Amino acid sequence: MIASTMQPGELTIARLVEYSRRTFPETGVTTWTGSELRPISFPELGDRTAQLAHALAKLGIGRGDRVATFMWNNNEHQVAYGAVPSMGAVLHTLNLRLSPEQAVYIIKHADDKVIIVDASIAPMLAQYVKATPNVKHVIVANGPASAFEAPEGITVHSFDELIAGEPTVYDWPEIDERDAAVMCYTSGTTGDPKGVVYSHRSIWLHSMQVCSASGMGLGNKDSVLAIVPMFHVMSWGLPYAAMMAGLTLVMPDRFLQPEPLLAMMAAARPTFAAAVPTIWQGVAAQLKAAPQDISHLREVVVGGAAVPPSMIKQFDEFGAPITHAWGMTETSPLGSVSRPPFGVEDPDQEFAYRVTQGRFPAAVQARLIDDDGNEVAWDGESAGELEVRGPWITGAYYSPDGPVSDPAKFHDGWLRTGDVASISPDGFMTIVDRTKDLIKTGGEWISSVELENTIMSNPVVTEAAVVAVPDEKWDERPFVLAVVADEAQADAAKLREHLAGLVPRWQLPERWAFVTEVPKTSVGKFDKKRIRAEYADAAYDVVDARD
Ligand code: AMP
Repeated sequence: MIASTMQPGELTIARLVEYSRRTFPETGVTTWTGSELRPISFPELGDRTAQLAHALAKLGIGRGDRVATFMWNNNEHQVAYGAVPSMGAVLHTLNLRLSPEQAVYIIKHADDKVIIVDASIAPMLAQYVKATPNVKHVIVANGPASAFEAPEGITVHSFDELIAGEPTVYDWPEIDERDAAVMCYTSGTTGDPKGVVYSHRSIWLHSMQVCSASGMGLGNKDSVLAIVPMFHVMSWGLPYAAMMAGLTLVMPDRFLQPEPLLAMMAAARPTFAAAVPTIWQGVAAQLKAAPQDISHLREVVVGGAAVPPSMIKQFDEFGAPITHAWGMTETSPLGSVSRPPFGVEDPDQEFAYRVTQGRFPAAVQARLIDDDGNEVAWDGESAGELEVRGPWITGAYYSPDGPVSDPAKFHDGWLRTGDVASISPDGFMTIVDRTKDLIKTGGEWISSVELENTIMSNPVVTEAAVVAVPDEKWDERPFVLAVVADEAQADAAKLREHLAGLVPRWQLPERWAFVTEVPKTSVGKFDKKRIRAEYADAAYDVVDARD
């Protein structure tokens, strides 16, 4: 054995902040206000990043403390992305689409001390923090501090006033690259949401993959429209990739409807964009109604849910080709990207590759495991549960007492993804099913089990099974198959009304059917495979409860 002569060179977020501020004065981040762009350069971002770190330190934030954000994609969120991990604290990005119970659970579980919130959604947060005594300070960005009505025990600050006058340089602490940098909870699991904690190192390596040609292939000349939220797996790593590549990040803030998105695209003319299929479905419909040239997009990366082949064709026609990618909160998220292999020139063959979820990068190992625990061949046909491992794949979930590696989710050091896939001999993955009992709608999860329990909390419902069914706009929606005490109670609109106060609005099921008994497996569980198949065969008399 001989020792390497290389320097340690810790891969830290502070390094990205300082690198981007010194190297890229010509680029930065720009946020849509609804009518214009609000740009900020990397040097200016660097100044503000240091200022926020000083302000947080004065509020008592130290190494390992959690600072949460409850924010849209915007300049201020980018500042928090730099400041919090660089000072050795942990950035916790709170998902804006959580139910109140989930939000309270997560804020308490992560033990957030400070929350930075956008003024437009401050009233929502004010409701949650009444039940979270751990939160001591709330910082309101993009509006007056008065937008947040503070419950007792919380001090409210204005983002701009808090950082004004603070030094624009911060003596960033020495940090071990394996230390925690950012945490993000996923509701894409059964039971309570689970926390994934990214390290400085994992974020660095992931950013390098995002920028590389087999990832998203991003560089200084790109301007990247990051529609995928900064509260959902770090906006697919784009905020950090931006600091690394010196690319311009174009942020939509809260303007996520197709019309304002297209108005922003006309103004910013991004070269690249990233979002879940639901967003592009809306954009495509709007483009049909009001044609607009979007061919400035040299590439659109779409993932988070399967991309329909028809969408790939449609965007080819718009001159904005889609690249399909797969990932999870647990995988930072970039897991696989579909780039047709060298030498494929036949358009049909190329298209067949583009619809798959793609190839894994060198750092991510993948295998398929069947029901008996055996590895399945990469023959393009045999399917098994996808398991992955690598330096930006989580090996456990966060708990206040230390990481927990539950065997239901981890298998000999591999992450069990809950996705069922096949892989071709040349390494292209196709997802064919899901073992997790969840519904992914518009990029966010609904737990079918929780929804079933809430529906069954209505005394007129004897049994209710909920399964995911395809939906053109939202990719998937919940379908409820219910048994009611007597026929007169089989009123979908009324049952939906009962649910309205109990689950977030976007989770309310539209499709209902009533039967005398829900199909069951041999061990007495709801037979969801059969329910899905029967739904597909139009075996149920489905009522649309919105009518
Ligand atoms: P999340 O952690 O919320 O980002 O969800 C990750 C899950 O979304 C994966 O385990 C898949 O079930 C699903 N998913 C992500 N990307 C794709 C894709 N390209 N095709 C099909 N499903 C996907």
